[in-house]
Amino acid sequence: MSLRNNRLTDQEYGQQFSDIHPPFETRDAALVEANRCLFCYDAPCTKSCPTSIDVPKFIKQITTDNIKGSAYTILSSNIMGGGCSRVCPVEKLCEGACVYNLMEEEAIPIARLQRYATEKAIQEKWTLFKRMPDNGKRVAVIGAGPAGLSCAHALSRAGVAVTIYEKESKGGGLMTYGIAAYKVTPAFCEDEVNYITSLGGIEVKYNQELGKDISLDTLQRNYDAVYLAFGVGLTRQLEIPGEHLEGVADAIRFIYAIRTAGYPTVSVGDKVAVIGMGMTAIDAATQAKRLGAEEVTLIYRRTQQEMPCTTAELEIARLDGCRVIWLATPAEIRGENGKVTTLICQVMKLGEADESGRRQPVPTDETITLQVDMVIKATGQTPFEQLVNGHAIEHHKGKISVIDKSVTNLTGVFAGGDCVNGGKEVVDAIQAGKDGAKEILQFLLEKQA
Ligand SMILES: Cc1cc2nc3c(=O)[nH]c(=O)nc-3n(C[C@H](O)[C@H](O)[C@H](O)COP(=O)(O)OP(=O)(O)OC[C@H]3O[C@@H](n4cnc5c(N)ncnc54)[C@H](O)[C@@H]3O)c2cc1C
Ligand code: SF4
Repeated sequence: MSLRNNRLTDQEYGQQFSDIHPPFETRDAALVEANRCLFCYDAPCTKSCPTSIDVPKFIKQITTDNIKGSAYTILSSNIMGGGCSRVCPVEKLCEGACVYNLMEEEAIPIARLQRYATEKAIQEKWTLFKRMPDNGKRVAVIGAGPAGLSCAHALSRAGVAVTIYEKESKGGGLMTYGIAAYKVTPAFCEDEVNYITSLGGIEVKYNQELGKDISLDTLQRNYDAVYLAFGVGLTRQLEIPGEHLEGVADAIRFIYAIRTAGYPTVSVGDKVAVIGMGMTAIDAATQAKRLGAEEVTLIYRRTQQEMPCTTAELEIARLDGCRVIWLATPAEIRGENGKVTTLICQVMKLGEADESGRRQPVPTDETITLQVDMVIKATGQTPFEQLVNGHAIEHHKGKISVIDKSVTNLTGVFAGGDCVNGGKEVVDAIQAGKDGAKEILQFLLEKQA
């Protein structure tokens, strides 16, 4: 057993990482689905969308071939509506709320219809938004992820000149560097970022890291306001013996390598254990399998009822041949010659519920031994402690504290997205960016008065 790269042919890699939710093949196929929509009053699909996209309206516009209007309806609520149509866990959001579920019929494929409308807008570079005249105000945004881009777009539309400082060489945040390639490709992410910034009034300074190349104090002095949207950091440590062995990987780094270095260069084991059961764990497990691992086992300390990923995501992992061990937690990693050979897990049982009502896993005397050559840790991300610790900015467990939606304790400094909520979904970060822009505009107005 050993970690190896270049396990498949180029063609096989291409097949393994192809689009998991392909678009409609024809206009007619999209129209058939759009015409099934009941255009519900007080539509539950819209209510369940964190960015409140007017779903029945954009679907109606598709039925009348008004694709530009449809794209405008989507993008005016969610400027990353194209990306969200590929990555949103729609089964627990809009599609999960569609009234067809109550009739035990297939929900309207809202995400595919949203993709149908927005793909054209991005591909054909439609100009759907215009900036208001420049109002002389300047705002710095830290991070070109969904929250930062959404905030920047809304501010720029209102006439503010925005400078985004991004530590990576590309924008998009985890859309570009984190989410599995079979959901959204790096090429699409690049097109989407370019589409958003093509509005004008948004300058992105890449390879510029807060805390290293720039400081918050300087930004506060040079700009009218600052919006922090730097997301969350690397995977939490397991704090168990053997974590240092070769073959133990951080899920975020593993996925980052797949997204940036190219599939053949990324090493994967024959027998892989993935610790965790969130979206990151599923993405790491399925991609390990698609890179050529023979066996992939997801290990989760609770049961299926408590898992953070959706049933649809679990299904993707199962269809890829990944197996799951419920009620087990890693206790020790053993190795030979510095390389992982064995994972020992403690068997758990569910105990009393805590104040949130969630039953807590408690260890039993039993253990399970797995012969593995790779352990991927996907047990949640730790906030960028060092970024917030050095400043007078209030935070709790590394997450920036805000009053209202994005106002921090520092005058003129706002924050949103994963760095505030600790890690949710793209669509939540987009809404956070919109809320941030609204509060910044209010602040700029009051400052002027
Ligand atoms: C593996 C994985 C899979 C996921 N899958 C999904 C999914 O399928 N669907 C979904 O909806 N959500 C998914 N998510 C969650 C989603 O990606 C995030 O909630 C969302 O990207 C948060 O947006 P954000 O803008 O707050 O942060 P990010 O996307 O993290 O963007 C933050 C940006 O700030 C930059 N930055 C960080 N530090 C600094 C600094 N010091 N200076 C300057 N720039 C900095 C980063 O490079 C990055 O570009 C996934 C997350 C992970 C980790
Ligand atoms: S709930 Fe379903 S049927 Fe009703 S408007 Fe939304 S998508 Fe259409």
